[in-house]
Amino acid sequence: MTLPSASGARPSTDVIVLGAGIVGVSTALALQQRGHAVCLVDRQAPGRATSYGNAGIIQREAVRPYAFPRAWQALIRVAARRGNDVNYHLRALPSLVPALARYWHASAPARYAGTVAAYSALIRHCLDEHAPWIERAGAQDLVRKTGWLEAYRTDAAFDQAARAATAVATDHALDHALLDRRGLAAAEPALRNVLAGAIHWRDPWTVTDPGELVARYADLFTRQGGTFCHGDAATLRASGTGWQVSTSDGVVEAAHAVIALGPWAADLTARLGYRLPLFVKRGYHRHYGAEAMPSKPVLDSENGVLLAPMRQGLRVTTGAEFAHREAPPTPVQSERAEELAAQLVRLGNPVEATPWMGARPCVADMLPVVGRAPRHAGLWFHFGHGHQGLTLGPATARLLAEVFDGEPPYVEPAPYDPRRFGA
Ligand SMILES: Cc1cc2nc3c(=O)[nH]c(=O)nc-3n(C[C@H](O)[C@H](O)[C@H](O)COP(=O)(O)OP(=O)(O)OC[C@H]3O[C@@H](n4cnc5c(N)ncnc54)[C@H](O)[C@@H]3O)c2cc1C
Repeated sequence: MTLPSASGARPSTDVIVLGAGIVGVSTALALQQRGHAVCLVDRQAPGRATSYGNAGIIQREAVRPYAFPRAWQALIRVAARRGNDVNYHLRALPSLVPALARYWHASAPARYAGTVAAYSALIRHCLDEHAPWIERAGAQDLVRKTGWLEAYRTDAAFDQAARAATAVATDHALDHALLDRRGLAAAEPALRNVLAGAIHWRDPWTVTDPGELVARYADLFTRQGGTFCHGDAATLRASGTGWQVSTSDGVVEAAHAVIALGPWAADLTARLGYRLPLFVKRGYHRHYGAEAMPSKPVLDSENGVLLAPMRQGLRVTTGAEFAHREAPPTPVQSERAEELAAQLVRLGNPVEATPWMGARPCVADMLPVVGRAPRHAGLWFHFGHGHQGLTLGPATARLLAEVFDGEPPYVEPAPYDPRRFGA
C-alpha cells in the first residue's frame, strides 16, 4: 500500500502513526486532511485487530459509557459469575486491582455525571465525522442507517429500561422508539417470540464488516498520497529530529509520532515511563449461518449477547472478560452466547472453527486518551476508546488533529488530555 512519490523516493514524513485500527487510520486521515505527510505503521494490514471483531455499531446513542457496577447486588452477581455479560480470570485480578479500583471510583454517581458530559460531547459528533469518509472511501455498501435494538426478555426489565431510555433520549435529543412484544415481532420476523420488547435506537448506523470499513478508510488514505508500512511499534526510538521506527520499507523518521495501538498502547507507554490506568475487557464473537437474520443488531440485554447481521453471517458477540490480554482464550461466554442466540433465532452452523477474541482498550475513567504526551516532545497519545472505538475513532482523530495544529478544538479537549493522569 505504499505510494511512492513521482520521483520514486519516499515522500518525507511529518508524522508517524503507530497502529492501523479505526483509531490510527482515522488519525492518519485527519492529519492528512490538514496537509501533513503521514506514515501509518502496523504489523498487519489495517483493521485486522479489535477494529475487525466488534459489533459494528456507530453508537450515536452511547452517551453513557459503561460504568463499574456500584450496587452490591450487581457486584455479587458479577463476582459469582451469575450472568453471561461478565467473566473474569481469578489469577488476573491482583494485577488488575489498581485500574479496577480507579474504575470503581470514577463510577461514583457524582464523578460519573461529569464523565457522561464529556463523553456525550464527543459521541454527538460520531455520525458527522464518519459520514464524509464513508462517502469518499466508497463504503456506503457497508453501512445501514436503520439503528439497532436493545431487547429485553422480561416485561419488568423492559419497562425499567424503557423508562431510563426515554429519559436519556430526552436529555440528549436521541431518536428512539419503544417496541412491545407485538411491535418487535412485526418489525423483526426472524426473531422467535421470546422477547418482551425492545428499545429501537434509531440514530445509530451499523456496519456489516467493520474491518473492511477500516481497510477502505486506509485505502482512501493511501489513494490521497499517504504511506502505509508494515513495522513493529516496539522499534520506536527518539531520534535527532524527533522519532523513528523500523519498517519493512526501511527506517521512517518524523518530527512527530502518534501512539494509536489500542489494547497494545500500554506496551509502549509503559516503556517510555508512563503509568496510565489502562486495562482491557476481552470479548469474543463467532459467525453463524442463519435461515433468516434480523435486519439490524439485536442485544439480548439481560445476557450481554448481541446478534449482528454481518457479511460473514450472523455475528454473535459477548460482553466483557477481565483477563490478561495475552492469556489463552476461555470462550465460556461465547459458548453460552451460542445457546442464548439459538433461543432468539434459528441459528445455523458456526462459520469459524473457534471464536474470534479481541480486547477492548479501556481507561479507568472511561474517557479516551487524546493529546500530547506529557514528557516527550513530538509524541502524541490516541487510545483507550473502550466499548466505542469504532464509533469515536474519527471524532477523537479530528480533536487530536486540531490540537496538533493549534486550531480551536471543536470539543473541549481537557477531559481527554493525557496530563489528567499527571506527568
Ligand atoms: C466484542 C466487541 C464488540 C464491540 N462492539 C463495538 C461496537 O459495536 N461499536 C464500537 O464503537 N466499538 C465496539 N467495540 C470496541 C471497538 O472495537 C474498539 O474500541 C476499537 O476497535 C479500538 O480501535 P483501536 O484502533 O484503538 O485498536 P485496534 O483496532 O486493536 O488497533 C490497534 C492496531 O495496533 C496494531 N499493533 C499492536 N501492536 C503493534 C506493534 N507492536 N507494532 C505494530 N502494530 C501494532 C494492531 O495490529 C492493530 O491494528 C467492540 C469491541 C469488542 C471486543
